[in-house]
Amino acid sequence: MASIFSKIIAGDIPSYKIAENDKYYAFLDINPAAKGHVLVVPKQEVDYIFDLDDDILGGLIKFAKPIAKALDTAFSPIRTGIIVEGLEVPHAHVHLIPMYPDRKGFSLGKKVDLSSDEMQQVANDIRKHL
Ligand code: 5GP
Repeated sequence: MASIFSKIIAGDIPSYKIAENDKYYAFLDINPAAKGHVLVVPKQEVDYIFDLDDDILGGLIKFAKPIAKALDTAFSPIRTGIIVEGLEVPHAHVHLIPMYPDRKGFSLGKKVDLSSDEMQQVANDIRKHL
């Protein structure tokens, strides 16, 4: 069965899309740990990130880089961090999470509450800088 991220990539489940090419898809995490929390996913559906082919694994970071820079420009965090966890969704992905002065570091357990209008605005603000 297709993973929830494959369904998002296929457009069967809606997402706040940030960027896409033939191999990768980036979108806002629905339950953000900070404003601007983005998930970057290879379209190839593999559970464990270190089982990805080398070129797809390397390309994942290259695809994530301009998105991280866009987060830095859009929201001026201290910097944007990157986490790989993968305990909830069995489809390899990285989390890009801006770190703000009021909360240095991050925890995927701590969430911020954003309305759908605010999520849409966050997505627009990121895309403007890509
Ligand atoms: P992990 O697998 O790395 O532990 O976490 C998976 C992440 O995917 C979580 O931060 C969770 O909020 C996010 N997530 C799970 N289901 C959906 C979904 O349907 N849409 C979006 N945008 N994010 C999701």
